[in-house]
Amino acid sequence: MTWLDSIADKAVGRVLPARSEALAVLASGDDELLDVVAAAFRVRRHYFGRRVKLNYLVNIKSGLCPEDCFYCSQRAGSSAGVLKYTWLKADEVLASAEAGVAGGARRVCLVASGRGPTDRDIDRVCGTIASFKERNPDVEVCACLGLLTDGQAQRLRAAGTTAYNHNLNTSGGHYADICTTHEYADRVSTVTAAKAAGLSPCSGLIAGLGETDEDLVDVAFALRALSPDSVPVNFLMPFEGTPLAGRWELTPQRCLRILAMVRFVCPDAEVRLAGGREIHLRTLQPLALHIVNSIFLGDYLTSEGQPGSADLAMIADAGFTVEGAEHAAAAHAAPVPAADSAPLSLATPRPDLVHVRRRGAGTSLPANS
Ligand code: SF4
Repeated sequence: MTWLDSIADKAVGRVLPARSEALAVLASGDDELLDVVAAAFRVRRHYFGRRVKLNYLVNIKSGLCPEDCFYCSQRAGSSAGVLKYTWLKADEVLASAEAGVAGGARRVCLVASGRGPTDRDIDRVCGTIASFKERNPDVEVCACLGLLTDGQAQRLRAAGTTAYNHNLNTSGGHYADICTTHEYADRVSTVTAAKAAGLSPCSGLIAGLGETDEDLVDVAFALRALSPDSVPVNFLMPFEGTPLAGRWELTPQRCLRILAMVRFVCPDAEVRLAGGREIHLRTLQPLALHIVNSIFLGDYLTSEGQPGSADLAMIADAGFTVEGAEHAAAAHAAPVPAADSAPLSLATPRPDLVHVRRRGAGTSLPANS
């Protein structure tokens, strides 16, 4: 039995790996990469088969945030040139969210910039969610509105909200290096409050923020301790106009190792391949489907993803099936945009791959779904 068989066996039995094993996944060499992916696939297949759940992001309030999260294009003082708008009206939210549903999404994620909602903001979002659920009773709604105060999670739950997202993002030890306006403990409290209110907890991380392997293992273990149902794994999109512009430290291979480590630590959670997959995994995206069981369809909050049709084609080509596909347009082999003709090198800056979103929510252009 190899060390990878051992870690996969533990994961199938929901046994937490040793820290040394999680670190070994991150430190493994390229010769072992496919073995790492295969071991993670055994775990993924055990809990989720070959299904891929599609989630769809709707940015219901964009930009102009008073917080200073260094990685975020919506932060205070950002000059990233992203779309800026206040709360979208309910019909605008519904139009975007339902475009995602039509593309195959089984969960829509309604996300607002800001430190956290006021009680009036909660009123507004609850009304929107209730309208959406009335029209789409089988589609899950995840809210992501920042830090919650007493009673807000309960009100969201009562309105029909399925889940609440609040990412830990990085380790407690690294947190002060990525944000100074709130603390790691604030984030833990909000995830805990959401869970206590009966909302499905969704909490994940961002890799590529200058963290060490130890930090990545710390945050993965901290997430395991919170027992989230979903764990989004983001890869930093280094927007020009933010403090982390120019920070390109991820390779496609490292992204796969990070995803595998998270799968071994949180084996039965929905591990969601999130922002940055196109620009960091690039042509290795389909390999990641062997580790994660969920992706975001189409665009992100402030940046464009690959066309939703290309996501569906990728899933079909890799031999996976879209969860709930019987409700959605069948995955089809739509033409994929021509690849960048410049040769790709590893961990080299690729600002040409970061495109500010100019369509969908908050614009008059159709959504990418
Ligand atoms: S991550 Fe959220 S809280 Fe932080 S700056 Fe961005 S929108 Fe504001």
